[in-house]
Amino acid sequence: KFHIHPAVLEVARIFRKHDKEVYLVGGAVRDLVRGKVAKDWDLATNAKPEEVQAMFHRVIPTGIKHGTVTILFKGLSIETTTFRTEGTYSDGRRPDTIHFTHTIEEDLSRRDFTMNALALELPEQRLVDPYNGQKDIQNRIIRCVGDAAERFYEDGLRPLRAIRFASQLLFTIEPHTLKAIGPALTITAKVSMERIRDELDKILASEQPSLAFRLMETTGMLNLLLPELQACRGVEQKGFHQFDVLDHLLLSCDAAPKDKLQVRLAALLHDIGKPVVRAQDELGIWTFYRHEEVSAKLARTIMIRLKYPNALIDQVCHLISVHMFHYDENWTDAAVRRFIVRVGESALEDLLDLRRADTWGTAGREPPANLNQDLVDRIQEVLSKDKALSIKDLAVNGEDLALLGIPRGPVMGRILKELFETVLDDPEQNTKERLSYIAEQLYKKYQ
Ligand code: ATP
Ligand code: MG
Repeated sequence: KFHIHPAVLEVARIFRKHDKEVYLVGGAVRDLVRGKVAKDWDLATNAKPEEVQAMFHRVIPTGIKHGTVTILFKGLSIETTTFRTEGTYSDGRRPDTIHFTHTIEEDLSRRDFTMNALALELPEQRLVDPYNGQKDIQNRIIRCVGDAAERFYEDGLRPLRAIRFASQLLFTIEPHTLKAIGPALTITAKVSMERIRDELDKILASEQPSLAFRLMETTGMLNLLLPELQACRGVEQKGFHQFDVLDHLLLSCDAAPKDKLQVRLAALLHDIGKPVVRAQDELGIWTFYRHEEVSAKLARTIMIRLKYPNALIDQVCHLISVHMFHYDENWTDAAVRRFIVRVGESALEDLLDLRRADTWGTAGREPPANLNQDLVDRIQEVLSKDKALSIKDLAVNGEDLALLGIPRGPVMGRILKELFETVLDDPEQNTKERLSYIAEQLYKKYQ
């Protein structure tokens, strides 16, 4: 017997009291069979959505057209879908029609993989497994329900789901299923970016995203979804690097913390501009862009295409554009302060994570735990002192300068910036007397 949340069992008994069948389906059953705790509790039932709405006090009509409602019960949100099959798919994205059906077996036949086509009847916990999903789970195999080519042709997201599950669960894709991915890519090309991005996010949150990206490469999916990454294959790194740019990016991505999407993305894309830069070098084209700026620009284009939110795009591109720095013990305190200001206090931790991932991806093995410790200590030291790390921290403000007779506007802005530079170099100068004096001198000069 599996461990089912008591509130889910209570919900199941209410279905039963109304003479309705109810099954736990989807990822929850898969996770329970794997001996893991289930995350979300999805149910399938022969009750129609309106009937479910009548049975419970709080029901949200999340997808009534598809037969889905969400029951809110004792702190849980339980997605409940009426047994259904799907009509033909003419666009490779969603079925033209759906039909409610009477049996769980018919409902399971529309599901993508055998491991996802299991149902557990509640509350007595009888397992319904028409496609031998349990056996495939035990053997860690991802296999389409029915003919893989047909199933991928119906919904072009499924090949990417297969790859995502492979890296998430560390399962292998069964040969027929794997072979069907390449020919289905024209269908995958029609899938909305939002659905694709959701899968990419799950890949990036997995233990070893490189597994998925390597599968994407061998099936041709990488060239479709992230051609800029594919272009990094075979491009030599310079200096000490022993991997090509693609392997370096994948190793770096694996090495980034899996619970930090922004660092995983920055690691995956931090050298994405190198093929362009290398090609320019070869043609003798001179530009004043540093390679990390080119990478940041290209990363932005890619993330916009993938419809990532702007705040995340800014975060990732900023990390990429500041990722090159060469700390040594000769850095003055002023240099450390300038570094903090350039990176921004809120991005420091992510940048150090990115640097660690980059180092790991260069060496191909884990760097020592105390990597960058000296810099971290120096930063801590600077941050713990009385600090002026933004114009707001200056001992004078615009008000004070106005009282000295300096008019508000561009000149005042320029003076404030110079005062800030002065204080970055020498924090001792951050007193009202000193800064007022310097401001007056500057004003005379600028008048
Ligand atoms: P997780 O929630 O961990 O990502 P999951 O298996 O629950 O995994 P969902 O996307 O939540 O995945 O979908 C729930 C179930 O719906 C799946 O287990 C599968 O049976 C079915 N399903 C989801 N997407 C598809 C699809 N594109 N084609 C066929 N069946 C699908
Ligand atoms: Mg789920």
